[in-house]
Parts: sequence; structure tokens; C-alpha cells
Amino acid sequence: VEDVLGIQPGRDPNRVVIVGAHIDSRVTDVMNTTADAPGANDDASGVALVLEAARALSKQRFDATIVYAVFSGEEQGLWGATLLADTAKARGWDVSAMLNNDIVGNTVGQGGKREDGYVRVFSEGIRSSEGEAAQAARRGNGGEDDGPSRALAKAIDGVAGSVRGGLDVMLDRRPDRFGRGGDHEPFLKLGYPAVRFSVANEDWDAQHQDLRTEKGVVFGDTVDKMDFGYLAKVTAINVATLARLAAAPAAPASATISGALSRDTKVAWAAVPGAAGYRVRWRRNDRSEWSDQRDVTGTETLLVQTPVDDHFVGVSALAADGSESLVTFAGR
Ligand SMILES: [Zn+2]
Repeated sequence: VEDVLGIQPGRDPNRVVIVGAHIDSRVTDVMNTTADAPGANDDASGVALVLEAARALSKQRFDATIVYAVFSGEEQGLWGATLLADTAKARGWDVSAMLNNDIVGNTVGQGGKREDGYVRVFSEGIRSSEGEAAQAARRGNGGEDDGPSRALAKAIDGVAGSVRGGLDVMLDRRPDRFGRGGDHEPFLKLGYPAVRFSVANEDWDAQHQDLRTEKGVVFGDTVDKMDFGYLAKVTAINVATLARLAAAPAAPASATISGALSRDTKVAWAAVPGAAGYRVRWRRNDRSEWSDQRDVTGTETLLVQTPVDDHFVGVSALAADGSESLVTFAGR
């Protein structure tokens, strides 16, 4: 198994953000190696996005290293992505984020329904690598909607709001489409924050089909079904996310809250090398998005009249230019 990688070294060679897509494509029989399998959407669209991201960002200098990855063997078993995830683990990379782009180029879906207003971003809420001790702690802390991958998806949602073009993010609260998977999964298994981008409406007459026409229906994953304006917007969201996370410091390794039987909540977190400051975010426990924030320079703060019983708290690290890391959810 071989992947094609473009590596853009950052000031920190060990911390990486990854954008990936798969270069293999298939027809009806996944083991058919001779039929024409153009794979325009699945997943040449993602590969084009990765190449364009490299073109757009390669002249800039970032704190983190950016890995532009094109995976092989996705259709037969996520082999190329597994190779890179295992390599990241073996080399001790600190993976801040992995953005998987798979089927990101069409707007007309099955049955002719068109949707060009949003892109789906799939994420797991709870770290799939979570062990028993972490699971027990989370049961007490809450945080089912605040795992690292969900935090990444929320960050992408926020980034998308500032990208010109107006493409919205549907924060799809599942690891992937129902009962299906993709190249972000090997990264999730190892505990790395990872998400999948996919179009709003899939066209299953195009995906994984022999090229043919049956009863007037044209099957096959061909380039004429792509919407390049839409693909450009998905690419812009990826580029802006990569730029932000590569410019930001790493997320705090841990964060804690305390203050039981008090009206105030004390927040403390692990210092992050190179961070110019930190952003403490909080919200009431009946809300899903952060509602309040405070920027501080130390490694603790007190939220007055904000009872720990009723508030979720998270902490991110800030670069001097304001670039923000993912939010680390605080617990005991
Ligand atoms: Zn695919």
C-alpha cells in the first residue's frame, strides 16, 4: 500500500494537520481492476481539493506542519489512510486535525434534487479510542458533544461562517453516514481529531457504478455531474480551517473545572508551548454551542456567578495573531 504525500514543514515538525482524499475509484465490483472507473466525485473531487489546498497554502509559513495526503485502497478497506494513521502513531506525530474529503463535488443528488447551500461535516462526539477510565470520568463530566472530533467540526462550522461564498456547514453528529465509513476512521481509532466532508445530496446512481445507461438512467461517476463552483467553496472552507489550525498552537492537553457547592467555577489548564494566550469558553448545560468567552494569559481563571453544576467549560490556545486551537473540554 502506498500513499502520495505533500509535506509542508512548519516551525514545529512534530505537530501536524492533515488534509486527505482517496485516489482510488471503483465500479460495481470493488475488485474489478479493468473497467473504466472515472471516480470524478468519489474521490477525484477530494483529490482536486487537496491539490488546490496545497497550491493555496504552500507559500505561507505555519507553526504546524501540513500534510497533504492522497490515499490508496480506500474502497477495499481504508488501507492507505490506515497506513498514514499508523505512521503518524509510530513517528509520534501530534495530530491536531485530520480533514477527510470524500465525495465533495456534486450538488444534484439522487432523483435530481439539487442542494448547493451546505456541506455535511461528520464527526464523532465521543472519542472512539476512549478507555474505561476516561469513559467513567466523562459520565460524570458530560461532554458527549465535545470530544476532539466534535470540537473540530464545531471549529469548521465557525470558520465557514467567515469564508466568502456563503456555504453553510451541516454539523452532522455522527462519525460518518449511517452504516458507512471513510478514511478518517483509522485516525479516529488512534484518538486523533478527524472529520469527513461530504456533499449535501449524494447520487448513488453515480457512486460505485459500472458506466452504463439503463431505462434512460445514466449510471457512473463522471465529470459532467460535478459542480466546480460548489467544490471550490468546500475547498475554501478546508483551506481556511487548515490555515487557522496550522497557525494556532496545539490545544491544551487537559483542562479542569472545580467549584462544587459554590457559585463560582475555577478553570485551570495545562500550559501550551508557544501559546500567546488562552480562550476560556463556556455555556449552560442545556446548550450545544459556546455562548461566552474570556481571553486570559495565565493558566487559570475564575468564572464568578457561573455555577459548575450548570455550565460546560472549554479552553483553547491562542497564537499572537489570534489563531485559535481546538477547544479542550474541561472536567474534573
Ligand atoms: Zn470515497
